[in-house]
Amino acid sequence: MEKIIDINKLVRPNVLALKAYSSARDEYTSIGSKMIFLDANENPNETGVNRYPDPQQRKLKAKLSEIKNISTKNILLGNGSDEVLDLIYRAFCEPALDNVITLPPTYGMYNVLAGINNIESREVLLTEDFEPNIEGIFKKVDNNTKLIFLCSPNNPTGNSFSRDKITEILEKFEGLVVLDEAYIDFSEQVSWIEELDKYPNLIITQTLSKAYGMAGIRLGICYASEEIITILNKIKPPYNVNELTQNRAHYRLQNISEVNSEIADIVYERGVLSKALLEVKFIEKIYRSDANFVLVKVDDALKRYDQLLDKGVVIRNRTNQPLCENTLRLTVGTKEENLKLIKVLKSLD
Ligand code: PMP
Repeated sequence: MEKIIDINKLVRPNVLALKAYSSARDEYTSIGSKMIFLDANENPNETGVNRYPDPQQRKLKAKLSEIKNISTKNILLGNGSDEVLDLIYRAFCEPALDNVITLPPTYGMYNVLAGINNIESREVLLTEDFEPNIEGIFKKVDNNTKLIFLCSPNNPTGNSFSRDKITEILEKFEGLVVLDEAYIDFSEQVSWIEELDKYPNLIITQTLSKAYGMAGIRLGICYASEEIITILNKIKPPYNVNELTQNRAHYRLQNISEVNSEIADIVYERGVLSKALLEVKFIEKIYRSDANFVLVKVDDALKRYDQLLDKGVVIRNRTNQPLCENTLRLTVGTKEENLKLIKVLKSLD
């Protein structure tokens, strides 16, 4: 049976009552190319970017809709997924009253955004094999728990959560499940986008920053029910995705086979790198990764981090994250970069 939830009970009352800002470009229907635009106080001289961008990013959403096989009505775009995550907090969590559940070790912004929005984050450690601790999660859920953040594949551990565990959380929880699929394209697991109709409490975030190779343009994506998208649209800044970003993203997405071929290369290199790391004497464990990075356990993370930095290789020391003592996170680079990394690692004493 399909799950039923009343979104209006989850949304903040002020957001529910809010009338969204209506931008100049929202207020007319185009009658063709001959129109003159004297509505938005722009400079009329053509610079390529003298006009405000499309507030609803229609062309880009149409492209994404085609690629992901989902209606444009189920898509919201933001200035990176960090903006999308912030919008979700602001739409559903009442400061100083509501709470969210996060599952460390995981992406740090869920907690930073909780702090910014004055929302309590209830942390429930992943299990030893980096899976959600279902019992622990539901012990911490109460009537004010609005969101549960799941990151799959998870950063920094690299694993995907079991589909059964995610299903159980979606089925049991009466609030919203935010599933961060930033690294999904590197995984053999399929995206949960196909399940959106079944779970109206599911919000999926993705990004063009990782597999799509466009971290510099800042484009984050949210897929959710039309109801949820309508609420998020109400509170997003009118022109949150700039013209350059919309154009560049659309251009790259036209050549999706190039993106897919880069992803295949990175996944292949991840395998090569993981294998080569076995020969580094101070690496004690290499975690299986479904993402474009590999987490390794070493003898002394800080020492190895400093040594690598000294040789011009920057990686991420994750030793301060729970369950991650003495771990380093290595992003998969180009073939040459990975060879250099291995060479440097092997040279350290
Ligand atoms: N989610 C996860 C799991 C991430 O690791 C990151 C970036 N490191 C983001 C979201 C942020 O992505 P964006 O660049 O789209 O803001």
